[in-house]
Amino acid sequence: MPSPAVTISQRGADRVLAGHIWIYRADVVDAGEAGPGDVVRVQDRRRHFWGQALYSSQSQITLRLLTREERTFDGEFLAERIAAAANLRQLVAGGAQAYRLVSAEGDLLPSLIIDRYGPCFIIQTLTQGMERLKPQVVDILQRAYSPRSILERNDVAVRGLEGLPEQKGTLAGESISEVEVEENGLRFIFDLMGGQKTGGFLDQRENRLAARQYARGRALDCFSYTGGFALHLAVQCDSVLGVDSSPEALSLARRNQQLNNMANLEWKEANCFDFLKAADLARQRYDTIVLDPPAFARQKSKLEAAWRGYKELNLRALKMLNAGGFLITCSCSHHVSEADFLEIIAAAALDAHRTVTVVERRTQSRDHPILLTVPETHYLKCLILRVT
Ligand code: SAH
Repeated sequence: MPSPAVTISQRGADRVLAGHIWIYRADVVDAGEAGPGDVVRVQDRRRHFWGQALYSSQSQITLRLLTREERTFDGEFLAERIAAAANLRQLVAGGAQAYRLVSAEGDLLPSLIIDRYGPCFIIQTLTQGMERLKPQVVDILQRAYSPRSILERNDVAVRGLEGLPEQKGTLAGESISEVEVEENGLRFIFDLMGGQKTGGFLDQRENRLAARQYARGRALDCFSYTGGFALHLAVQCDSVLGVDSSPEALSLARRNQQLNNMANLEWKEANCFDFLKAADLARQRYDTIVLDPPAFARQKSKLEAAWRGYKELNLRALKMLNAGGFLITCSCSHHVSEADFLEIIAAAALDAHRTVTVVERRTQSRDHPILLTVPETHYLKCLILRVT
């Protein structure tokens, strides 16, 4: 049966020409017979073929391009795309046990995330179209990896924009909620069913390793979650304090600490804004500080508040660093560009009367590929700064 055709405007076609893979509702002229989650043929008013896409009957992002080719997008095509993603991982995440196998748009598999934690695979299908392809994804993973377990963490709010329910659970194999895997030579427990994202922040794996390289003396890890950065710092530092507002995250952080037999780590449950303010007033000093807050600007409208939030955190941290100390500061808000982020830090440095050297400008780990013409796929900024 031929796929339903969806007609787009010239502006929609121009977006495709510019290399983007999203077409918004305003640029869809006629959705024809397309139903929720169909793989559709994208054409312009003259019926010129522009590619094949996942169609959403609800989202403002109506079409997500899968391919510019005419070849039928079937199970084999899907398996090839997953295999291509896996090939890249062999190069960029070779030794890692926990990594992102498929990173949605970044791997030309829009709205599909597959994270691997050793023998367990966790998937997210975030659009009507990917939700429909879910059984095939599970099948491909089973054939390629014979995993102990395939779980879904589709308990995410964006599914609401697609009219999809929030759900999580086991799709194949054992029902596992916790798994222990190694990262950069350290042991970590991941709470696959209850943790944030699919259990961990895999996008910071390379930055945690980089941070360890500069870490020294007395260290502070703000927004520590389950101790990802803190444990890496502890390998080098005299003492590390991890601060997070989530008691569940901190209880896992303590278990991770025990697992690695580390004595030089302490944890504090607090709002990092309050903590930093109090620590600054109390004239606390550190040699290494990590700031890895949640996204402050999920929407453009939150940009101003985000700007203030980043500035305050970074100002306090810069004030509290000893001369020669390092600040590892992150932003995972796509709407705050690297240039914006550098500008915020510069303003904070001036206010703090500190001279700052940019030692490294980093981004998300390479298993979260950035698609050159899809700026949304570049979201994480991680600056390593030295204070003099
Ligand atoms: N650095 C971590 C990931 C941090 S995720 C890693 O590498 O694994 C962000 C964390 O910030 C979450 O654990 C969340 O509980 C915490 N958080 C969010 N708002 C906070 C606040 N105002 N104060 C303290 N922690 C906060």
